[in-house]
Amino acid sequence: MTLNDKNYDYLIVGAGPFGSIFAYEAAKRGKRSLIIEKRAHIAGNMYTHTDHGITVHDFGAHIFHTDNKEVWDYIRQFAEFNGYQNQVVANYKGTLYNLPFNMNTFYEMWGTKTPAEAKAKIEEQKAAALTDLGDREPRNLEEQAISLIGTDIYEKLIKGYTEKQWGRKATELPAFIIKRLPVRFIYDNNYFNHRYQGIPIGGYTQIFEKMLDNDLIDVRLNSDFFEHKDEYIAEFPRILYTGMIDQFFDYKFGELEYRSLRFEHEVIDSDNYQGNSVINYTDAETPYTRVMEWKHFDGLSDDGVTIITKEYPQTWDRTKEAYYPVNDEKNTNLYKEYAKEARQHKDQFIFGGRLGQYRYFDMDQVFNAALNEVRKEFKIPSSFNFAHDEEH
Ligand code: UDP
Repeated sequence: MTLNDKNYDYLIVGAGPFGSIFAYEAAKRGKRSLIIEKRAHIAGNMYTHTDHGITVHDFGAHIFHTDNKEVWDYIRQFAEFNGYQNQVVANYKGTLYNLPFNMNTFYEMWGTKTPAEAKAKIEEQKAAALTDLGDREPRNLEEQAISLIGTDIYEKLIKGYTEKQWGRKATELPAFIIKRLPVRFIYDNNYFNHRYQGIPIGGYTQIFEKMLDNDLIDVRLNSDFFEHKDEYIAEFPRILYTGMIDQFFDYKFGELEYRSLRFEHEVIDSDNYQGNSVINYTDAETPYTRVMEWKHFDGLSDDGVTIITKEYPQTWDRTKEAYYPVNDEKNTNLYKEYAKEARQHKDQFIFGGRLGQYRYFDMDQVFNAALNEVRKEFKIPSSFNFAHDEEH
């Protein structure tokens, strides 16, 4: 069998952001790529489609946010962005709170009105709960959360959500996960701290269509690398692989753990179902973590129909999509063995993206990592700006 029938320079496994950016930049440099994608669509988990004039994010809310100006300018070559700012409301057993943790949340929780009052409340709860913390670093997500915002917020807004999201106790999760959320002593409900934020008008899929619409790039959907792994490896001099790294190496050191998700989309005859783009259900009993109402991501007017999506966490197994790496100590150590193995084969293989690098990457971090990989591959100086195609 000849899989490399066009003398491709690269085989790229996965048509998500890492693979698509790499193919696009390689094509600019005259290199030919074949992208194979297991699923029936491009764009990976950034895939969006339009229904009733509403852009639906098939794999959960994707809000682009970054401090990286090059990445922000880069993605905006392919689409115009709206000025969306994410503001999430939490529903704990019928009572609503603003997220992330800020002066509004503290007022709703305790009636505190000044930063000094809120800080005193947090310190009091932290001292009572974490008597043995002293100067050491928090050892797990629970300790980290309590030391940042006290026990009340931990119990109502974090514990239930986190344990259903990850399917394990907060005491068995790494502390860094909760540090994704800002804690602020100002009245500011912006979910992110980044300078640039927004969503492409018309969705993300167009970005990938534009990147991949190139004579030097062929895309084959519904193509599973593992059906012909040996032939691909024999025929392609260079392979960029963005799937699960443990699967690539046939689980030789053991299986890495992932967390999966399931989405239920519903079209509803209503102008406005929940009045916000995202509502988190932070109790332990509600089986979903959050409900998205897509029209609010685009600031669309009321027109009789709305689409909502419920996000259910689920246990991962080999038949399910892997959404999140579980970066605890055990998995991190296991990943290091795979990473070492990968380095030994670096002349033929590149590993990229959330699954290839087993990292809880945000979109902008994937963009940045992909551009850096292109820099490395084509020996491009770090002063080169990909958004403007020039040195700066
Ligand atoms: N989290 C929480 N309560 C919330 C929202 C988030 O406890 O209402 C915690 C939870 O542990 C989650 C982490 O914060 O895994 C990161 O949340 P983020 O919204 O960044 O997660 P993502 O959108 O990547 O799933």
